[in-house]
Amino acid sequence: MRRRDFFKTSAALAAAAVLPGCKSSAQMSGSDDLRLEWRPYTGKLKYTFTIATYSRTETPLVLVRLSWRGYEGYGEASMPQYLGESTQSVTSFLARAAQEVLPRFKDPFLLDDILSEVDALSPRDTAAKAAIDIALHDLLGKILGRPWWQLWGYNPANTPCTSYTIGYDASDEIVKEKIEEASWTKVIKVKLGMGEQEDKRMINLIRERLDTVICIDANQGWKSKEMALDMIGWLAERNVCLIEQPMAKEDLDSAAWITERSPLPVIADEACQRLADIPRLKGAYDGINIKLMKCTGMREAHRMAEMARGLGMEVMLGCMTETSVAVSAAAQLSPVARWADLDGNILLANDCFEGMFLTDGKITLNDKPGIGVEPIKPFEEL
Ligand code: MG
Repeated sequence: MRRRDFFKTSAALAAAAVLPGCKSSAQMSGSDDLRLEWRPYTGKLKYTFTIATYSRTETPLVLVRLSWRGYEGYGEASMPQYLGESTQSVTSFLARAAQEVLPRFKDPFLLDDILSEVDALSPRDTAAKAAIDIALHDLLGKILGRPWWQLWGYNPANTPCTSYTIGYDASDEIVKEKIEEASWTKVIKVKLGMGEQEDKRMINLIRERLDTVICIDANQGWKSKEMALDMIGWLAERNVCLIEQPMAKEDLDSAAWITERSPLPVIADEACQRLADIPRLKGAYDGINIKLMKCTGMREAHRMAEMARGLGMEVMLGCMTETSVAVSAAAQLSPVARWADLDGNILLANDCFEGMFLTDGKITLNDKPGIGVEPIKPFEEL
């Protein structure tokens, strides 16, 4: 049986059996057209978020819904400043995809063709592409009545704990508040790269209060490889488990120099955007941080995780500040990640979906189909 026929048969059987989360045949009366809708949404941050390169209190998001024969899949684009996307660029891209790509497909199971054509619309727009990709995966999972961790064959017991991010702040009082807020977590992520003195002040403030293991993200902020290695040595004595992006993403030679000498694993984030970046990072970093918004979504994220594993590199999963839609989509891959930084929804004061949750800090995947999310009120009212 050809793969496409297999999926069609599986879809029909799943729908006929009315598995949990599936719609009955009476509900399958919707159109054969793939219908894409979108809503801009302003994510409000619980705290002002400061990293080595900028600071903000809100984040622009675009929520999407993809419908087919009465089934609905949800997706999301999150647009941090450094990726160069905006509400306007995302909504224009979605309008183009809705007009130029989706009308030519009546079968949503042609996922590879659909997403390749969406990707080919422009060289960038990775968050806009991720919104469509996530919604299509959610839709297919719902038609099949299965979550994606299961369709990929991953063991949901193998999920890591998520880290919870403490952003930089110049005020000791605000940092202490953030530490208090993070006291539940099993892994803290700290954003450094503000200079040696400030970086050590942040770590000392945390270590005076908590002994929780720490992941460090320097966000390209360290200026020389020697200084970076000194800092890593200092951090290694303070229960730190990894170092993310110590120096500028272009500087592979320094990354390789640091990785060779570092007592802690060194992970590429800004240096690793998409699948094609991975082979040249082998040897320069110990692992990669995969984020749906920079790699165009679940299809490519899954390929990246499998390529990294095949090359003997570590897999970390990250996110932007985003709702439970994009976080739950990324969490489907978490059984193969050694570390996960999937706290985007927790950093939001106005998450508008329910999905992946944490049990004592550990990522807990639900059995709901697709990416396992439900809006807290109708999509039209979000
Ligand atoms: Mg990072």
